[in-house]
Amino acid sequence: METVYIPHLLNRTGKQWSIDINEHLPWLDTLTPVRGNLTLTHCQTYLQVEGKLDTILTLTCDRCLQNYNYRVGITPQEMIWLQPDPEPGSVPLEQEVGLEDLVERLPPNGHFDGTTWIYEQICLALPQRQLCSSACTGISLSGSEDGVGVDHRWSALSQLQQQLENRDN
Ligand SMILES: [Zn+2]
Repeated sequence: METVYIPHLLNRTGKQWSIDINEHLPWLDTLTPVRGNLTLTHCQTYLQVEGKLDTILTLTCDRCLQNYNYRVGITPQEMIWLQPDPEPGSVPLEQEVGLEDLVERLPPNGHFDGTTWIYEQICLALPQRQLCSSACTGISLSGSEDGVGVDHRWSALSQLQQQLENRDN
């Protein structure tokens, strides 16, 4: 989606802009397009952003390494302060960082980049621990000939160990 020039919001009814979304993001491989909408409201000192986002992604299970589909359906909201960037050099290097400095801010005459915002919201909504199901038992070890299962993820490590031993001899 296009970026929004923030001062343009002031000319709109209710200082508000709603945008329908139905597109694939450039940096996120989703199975279905991201669908939903974004509403921007100019509240003088801050920009209120509300979204409704729906998409399906293919994730890799942390236990069994199989791919599985994961649906993200979120209604994120954020306040972005409209403040000019401080002049370079005017901020003391050892300035304490207060809580209010941790929120997002944009210059009042800047642009809102909806694509980046949507990307960040979806990334935040992904589970830290990705499991295909809570009952996933992980990689099957059956089928190894001697009955002692060797996780194939370790094979590169044991090869390296072998090389180091050969070099030392
Ligand atoms: Zn799994």
